[in-house]
Amino acid sequence: MNARPERHAAAPLPTVWLVGAGPGDPELLTLKALRTIRAATVLLVDDLVGDGVLRYARKSARIVHVGKRGGCQSTPQTFIEQLMLREALAGERVVRLKGGDPCVFGRGGEEAEFLRAHGVQVEVASGITAGLAAATALGVPLTHREHAHGVIFVTGHPRDTDAMLHWRTLADAAAQGLTLVIYMGVAEAPRLQRELLLGLPGATPVAVVERASQPGQRSAVTTLAGLVETIAAASLASPSVIIVGDVLQGLAQVTRSTQQAA
Ligand code: SAH
Repeated sequence: MNARPERHAAAPLPTVWLVGAGPGDPELLTLKALRTIRAATVLLVDDLVGDGVLRYARKSARIVHVGKRGGCQSTPQTFIEQLMLREALAGERVVRLKGGDPCVFGRGGEEAEFLRAHGVQVEVASGITAGLAAATALGVPLTHREHAHGVIFVTGHPRDTDAMLHWRTLADAAAQGLTLVIYMGVAEAPRLQRELLLGLPGATPVAVVERASQPGQRSAVTTLAGLVETIAAASLASPSVIIVGDVLQGLAQVTRSTQQAA
């Protein structure tokens, strides 16, 4: 017996909302995200979504954690997709809640394609991506008329980069005045450092921001030559964003002079 309400002819099309939960601080939710979270009857939630955000879900809502919480393997992508599909077709108001923006390294694109191919409508509520929150945490702009005329958001994760990414090209782009914002890069820092040094001076300013916008937020400002050492010394870990470029220049000077003063 299926106890769920049946959809009738006038019912709206089955819909899944792909919602960006932002980088952690609930104040950074958009009004649209908040509205959809409040209306959801089923939420499929990634690891990076803060508990502060989940407070806005209805008490009666079913919350399914599909990340790596508790040291378990993350839920297989096909399971997540099938679950979203099943619940949407059963008439539930399904929210797929992801950290940051759902379509920035969040598999939002893949999930939307899958759902649309199965006749489910997809609505997206953008979120503030971690790279922006990291820059805000440092108090630096990602672009600056004098230092950077653009930004590259890039993943440092090897699975995504194996064949595709040429870090030397990215180093050249950074040398031409593009800020690099590297997601999932901390574990790969030795390789990133080595390859970026092929095209950038060792003195290039670099910052690492862990848990941007969250209560445990930490950051370190260093140089490209000092990146690996700094990460180890400060035990910086995932989730962290690495920012590379001259937009950090003022900050690096402040840090250096603070160190000298100390
Ligand atoms: N969709 C997300 C990114 C998912 S990929 C977004 O738009 O932000 C996961 C990576 O995002 C992490 O490995 C880390 O690099 C970064 N990240 C997510 N939340 C973060 C946070 N609060 N602070 C720093 N980095 C974060």
